Amino acid sequence: MRPESLFPAFAPITSLKGCGPKLAPLVEKLVGGGRVLDLWWHLPSGLIDRRYRPAVAEAEPGRIATLEITIDRHLPPRNPRIPYKITAHDGSGRITLVFFNGREDFLKRSLPEGEIRLVSGLVELFDGQVQMTHPDRFGTPEEIEQLAAVEPVYPLTAGVAPRTLAKIIDHALAKAPPLPDWLDPEYKRRQDWPDWREALFAAHRPDSQVDLEKDSLPLQRLAYDELLANQLALLLVRRRLKRLSGRLLQGDGRLRDALEKLLPWPLTNAQKQANGEIAGDMASDKRMLRLLQGDVGSGKTMVALNAMLLCVEAGAQAALMAPTEILARQHAETLERYCSQLGVTLALLTGRDKGKARAALLQRLAAGEIDILVGTHALFQDDVVFKDLALAVIDEQHRFGVSQRLGLAAKGQRDKGGVDVLVMTATPIPRTLSLTAYGDMDVSKLTEKPPGRAPVDTRTIASDRFLDVVGAVKRKIQSGERVYWVCPLVEESEQSDLAAAAERHSALKLALEPELGEGSVGLVHGQMGAAEKDAAMEAFASGRSKLLVATTVIEVGVDVPEATLIVIEHAERFGLAQLHQLRGRVGRGGKPGACLLVYSGPLGETARARLKTIRETDDGFQIAEEDLKLRGAGEVLGTRQSGLPEFRLADLAAHAELLATARDDAKLILERDPKLASPRGRALLELLYLFERDAAIQYLQSG
Ligand code: ADP
Ligand code: MG
Repeated sequence: MRPESLFPAFAPITSLKGCGPKLAPLVEKLVGGGRVLDLWWHLPSGLIDRRYRPAVAEAEPGRIATLEITIDRHLPPRNPRIPYKITAHDGSGRITLVFFNGREDFLKRSLPEGEIRLVSGLVELFDGQVQMTHPDRFGTPEEIEQLAAVEPVYPLTAGVAPRTLAKIIDHALAKAPPLPDWLDPEYKRRQDWPDWREALFAAHRPDSQVDLEKDSLPLQRLAYDELLANQLALLLVRRRLKRLSGRLLQGDGRLRDALEKLLPWPLTNAQKQANGEIAGDMASDKRMLRLLQGDVGSGKTMVALNAMLLCVEAGAQAALMAPTEILARQHAETLERYCSQLGVTLALLTGRDKGKARAALLQRLAAGEIDILVGTHALFQDDVVFKDLALAVIDEQHRFGVSQRLGLAAKGQRDKGGVDVLVMTATPIPRTLSLTAYGDMDVSKLTEKPPGRAPVDTRTIASDRFLDVVGAVKRKIQSGERVYWVCPLVEESEQSDLAAAAERHSALKLALEPELGEGSVGLVHGQMGAAEKDAAMEAFASGRSKLLVATTVIEVGVDVPEATLIVIEHAERFGLAQLHQLRGRVGRGGKPGACLLVYSGPLGETARARLKTIRETDDGFQIAEEDLKLRGAGEVLGTRQSGLPEFRLADLAAHAELLATARDDAKLILERDPKLASPRGRALLELLYLFERDAAIQYLQSG
């Protein structure tokens, strides 16, 4: 139950003075929620400083100033299209106040001739005259002195006036209760952080530009609170998952040894180490929750196969889930090559399997005749029942949400213990992000690539050199190699993505097929039917088509060793991680790969930085960290897609260190006070509610 102290936080914004039913939806849209705390988290992005009080003659044009002046004359216009003017002066000089559509009665009352008034607004110079158009504030000196000299400026959308929003936020702040502190007192003292409520107020009342910086003390504190809530919640979930006992899975090594003999090359040390770590997890009675991170081409599939074979040796079943049909199919093909020689039964299940064939497959699965099931999210369907699932491998997990990952894990037999989970990711998630999404999920990293891989030779080229690009493609193909051509990502709709790819396809067909032969230019995109898509991929893999025009469907995992060149059009529109993934599609066979990044200028600063990074580095981890810096956390993996949490106050680029501390803090808390029963523990419960991580609280009970 939510503690009573937080009721005001979750009250609807319509309960606030001045926030009626017309305004509320606009405010809600703006701040991302309709509750009082949504306004608390809507922090100012700037400020207006009205403390600058020069004499009129000294007032700097372009600056906000507050001037004390004597009103001289009102000059109402004869024609309504001409502005209303008021002249005034102080000891140093004269100034004109300008009002468009000024209402004479109102202005005469507020700024009476012969009286002293304060006006505050933007100083302008017009024809050598000091002027102020529509002062933001004006009134008697007493009235103005009462107003805040520094006003916060909030991010706005159309329809909500700045003053209105500021007032509503003020009312919301007034509802903020003092809360018992959940911070470690010693840490808080050392950091010199204010109390929570004080921090919240300070964040909304910046006094100078410095207070808007992410590392100001109040903003640090608020960010830390949010990160602590995140880490604590993750630890609670993880503790629960770990406690759900796993099972002791110990194979005799028979299949894994046989696999090693089949492989034409030795495993890399990194692969061996990951195999060892995974086998260790599986042999323990704790449930495995491990992230296998490895750059494109680092050989994750072999590690996954090893784990699955261990599982089969122990007499259980394993599942591998991929985010797309193409990938699932490809995994199945790759694995089948080995499984068939090892006497291991593998099957593929995708959304496309229907009717009798599907029913038969499910029956074999339930009977335990299938050892390894590879598929898409079709594996989640309720009627997919394993005889004894012991390991779920999830590939390219950033496409799946947390709930989906746990959903597959739930398919194990309860009486036998939980399903071990191995998550493979080819997009190296920067440590900062993986922490927020998984807490401390155990991590195996394939830091080393199989030997003999030269980095992909990456170059940028302006789109006006299009013919040169086509020439390069032709030469590659004539020397027997294959080429990917990735089409621009068009933002508006998938439809236009498709149109761009289709159009490029016909153009390249026209340009190349006369020389390279009919059917040598293929096309694949996300909206093709599955069969059509497979046919196109298959034609390219087998070499019937030699140039494959594609949308980003080929982004992850697709493996055609003969492909040595990838052309990426409008490279400036892609994210760093995505470019790196795409580039990883080539140079997978013996021959070195090349990547041509075709860009259309002029490039913005970020795009320029991105292309430079991708040209100069081949290290996926470094690229991912860079990406985080350039784009901000939410965007890096596409938060919505990724199941990564969104933060309201914390900024992972700026607060990465706080995140690490929060992780350690959360660990220590749960070690010392596993039920959160101490006074600090109870305060932490309120913190979890405050940041809406309270779903994790249910896991405390069993604690
Ligand atoms: P990832 O999924 O990590 O991008 P893959 O598992 O698809 O990488 O492996 C990339 C390629 O490297 C595959 O063709 C695979 O057969 C090969 N490979 C895997 N491990 C090794 C190794 N130890 N030595 C040489 N080649 C390897
Ligand atoms: Mg792979």
